[in-house]
Amino acid sequence: MKTAICPGSFDPPTNGHLNIIERALKIFDRLIVAVAVNTAKQPIFTGEERVDLLQEIFDGQPKIQVDRFEGLLVDYAKGRGVTTILRGIRNMSDYEYEFQMALANKAMHPELETIFMMTEGRYSHLSSTIIKDVIQYGGKASEMIHPIVEAALKKKLR
Ligand code: ADP
Repeated sequence: MKTAICPGSFDPPTNGHLNIIERALKIFDRLIVAVAVNTAKQPIFTGEERVDLLQEIFDGQPKIQVDRFEGLLVDYAKGRGVTTILRGIRNMSDYEYEFQMALANKAMHPELETIFMMTEGRYSHLSSTIIKDVIQYGGKASEMIHPIVEAALKKKLR
């Protein structure tokens, strides 16, 4: 069974994230969406809230499991017995960062392979940061985030 871990902050999850995950289901038998709860960024949602949002979004999808991790991704992957990491790429700055991360992870855990999927054009401008601004200032975000995320974000920010 081919399993991949999709790690990220998901603060909050956007339709760009969801699109990568849904497309990856055609390639992998099982995806573990793993929320990184110890990023240096000041999160708007707690780790628990991000896990809950993703669980609600993927409710009824048996191929997707939502989990959280602290510490190094390589240690989490080892613990889960998974050797494939899936990441999305939007642009050149994502590429540079991802390239560095993938090499660092490979150096620490040589069996680990990082697979990249290109964003779909319509999501290439989407980031969690932009979404927060759109919601905070009353913009229309229905094309950018799941209704569950929109409701939670409005509650949090307004
Ligand atoms: P991190 O803080 O680990 O970068 P993010 O939640 O920002 O976590 O992103 C998780 C993954 O999703 C990364 O691989 C990122 O490049 C990807 N991603 C984020 N937004 C998009 C998008 N709009 N389209 C495709 N991939 C995306």
